[in-house]
Amino acid sequence: MTNSSDECKIDDAAVEKFRGQLLDWYDSHARSLPWRAPFGVVPDPYHVWLSEIMLQQTTVGAVMSYYVRFLELWPTVYDLAAADRDLVLKEWAGLGYYARARNLHACAQYVSEELGGVFPDTQKELMTLKGVGDYTSAAITAIAFNKPATVVDGNVERVMARYFADTQPLPDVKKALKRYAHYFFEGYADRPGDLAQAFMDLGATICTPKSPKCMLCPVSEGCAGYAKGIASDLPKRTPKKAKPQKRGYVYWAEDDNGCVFLERRSEKAMLGGMLGFPTSEWVEKGMDLKHLSGVAGDVSDPLASVFHSFTHFDLELIPVRVQTDDFVCGGAFESVAVNELAQAGFPTLFKKAWKVFVTS
Ligand code: SF4
Repeated sequence: MTNSSDECKIDDAAVEKFRGQLLDWYDSHARSLPWRAPFGVVPDPYHVWLSEIMLQQTTVGAVMSYYVRFLELWPTVYDLAAADRDLVLKEWAGLGYYARARNLHACAQYVSEELGGVFPDTQKELMTLKGVGDYTSAAITAIAFNKPATVVDGNVERVMARYFADTQPLPDVKKALKRYAHYFFEGYADRPGDLAQAFMDLGATICTPKSPKCMLCPVSEGCAGYAKGIASDLPKRTPKKAKPQKRGYVYWAEDDNGCVFLERRSEKAMLGGMLGFPTSEWVEKGMDLKHLSGVAGDVSDPLASVFHSFTHFDLELIPVRVQTDDFVCGGAFESVAVNELAQAGFPTLFKKAWKVFVTS
């Protein structure tokens, strides 16, 4: 094998050997995860779908307690479909990427009402569901239905870049990495679900981002990255551009009855559908920062800024206290007793702001 993605090839015997080594290792080293069916038990597609949506861009450690809680509250897709959407968003609070929660609920309703509660078992059909893309549909096809599918998450990409010693940087190399993964997944019908999970476990526990444990790796024999001593440098990455920096105000408006105003964020905004303290528009640093329309009364001195990093920009929110007259209940705003804020289901950004407000 060479480091040019156009030339990396592997013969059938080597593919078969790799699968055998990986699956033998998996049979004795598989991670125990709450959404995984024990060996010999047919997975529940609802469980697989729920976990795969939660795991999109989110770590296993962060997802565990949310997954368990969701299944306690909504044991079946029908239960989730019948749930109040605001409650689903509230329970999702802190997990991030809130469009996933909105899509999750819409998808549960669609599967319950239109598909008789049965998830489709082909990648093509799964991709028609809200919130289910190429990776998630492949993972559900392989894991829930034990059908061949090429499942390529970050773990699989890392293993493939190293195994084939491809030194091209991400994200350009993604296509090539998928093609390499295809060698192992394509048409493999014996244990496709286990193969996908074995790849994931190898990447998560042995072929880790830093300091891969090549001495313990079941497929080290054929690994070009290991042989060349470059494994820990792969995959290469194109240096990221600096993120835009944005700023805005976040408001605390408390009335004489001990209630504060909260705002349900617009569907199209960041944190769409979530409940939080009202904020002004978030503008790029250097641009004129204006108060939310309606905030005309006395505004306190700024409290300690709240910093939060989103995928595409960093945000500084400046907490200020304002008059309650500035907000009117109804529409997006609602008033909530201060001693009930713990039940509001704030996303992390507003938890940070809340902490500043109550400690300043
Ligand atoms: Fe990863 Fe090392 Fe195994 Fe290669 S030998 S797949 S680099 S852990």
